[in-house]
Amino acid sequence: QISIDALAAWLRRFQHLVADNRGYLTELDSAIGDADHGANLDRGMTAVVAKLDEAPSPDAADLFKRTGMTLVSTVGGASGPLYGTFFLRLGTGLGAVTSVGAAELGAGLRAGLEGVVQRGKAEPGDKTMLDALLPAVEAFDAAGVDSVTDAVHAAFEAARAGRDDTEPLVARKGRASYLGDRSAGHLDPGATSTALLFQALDETLA
Ligand code: ADP
Ligand code: MG
Ligand code: MG
Repeated sequence: QISIDALAAWLRRFQHLVADNRGYLTELDSAIGDADHGANLDRGMTAVVAKLDEAPSPDAADLFKRTGMTLVSTVGGASGPLYGTFFLRLGTGLGAVTSVGAAELGAGLRAGLEGVVQRGKAEPGDKTMLDALLPAVEAFDAAGVDSVTDAVHAAFEAARAGRDDTEPLVARKGRASYLGDRSAGHLDPGATSTALLFQALDETLA
């Protein structure tokens, strides 16, 4: 079981990783986008943590809905609504509970993934955050419900592999798609930050 405190710690850990990798994410986005992904996500997660500091959330639905709404209103760009939708759907999927097990978390992550697909309309291989998120959710499900720690670790490893696999791809969604074939040879910034999201959860539960 993962407590509400551990879920909040996940978000704080993600904020740390985003802040540490702000320059790197922006560097990736400068190669195939508009050089703002690190700044966008850092602004958003800093705002999320500031709100958690003001008032902790009583349950998972409140925690992730607040997170999603804060990201939508502070991040802008493509990634704001996409990360925002991910967390909003995760919150709705988990419901007003104070702890979650592997099965609930798997269903919540799946709901978040479906939100990202509905909103962004990307397909696997389009060189987007979906290329890290989809394999992560699939690896989580494939790991089964015996150990949430093992399932999360499998999800992180799959997200990292999915991120690496974006390098040779030609982007078909988002700003990077404007570059056509020249988008190949670079990691996707959003897939890279999504790997950090799962790294944060893995480190939180370790
Ligand atoms: P912007 O491109 O508006 O400047 P960001 O730089 O913050 O926004 O985010 C860019 C990232 O958003 C990309 O690297 C990609 O992973 C993700 N992205 C863009 N469009 C889509 C989409 N339609 N579906 C899923 N992810 C997308
Ligand atoms: Mg950008
Ligand atoms: Mg931008």
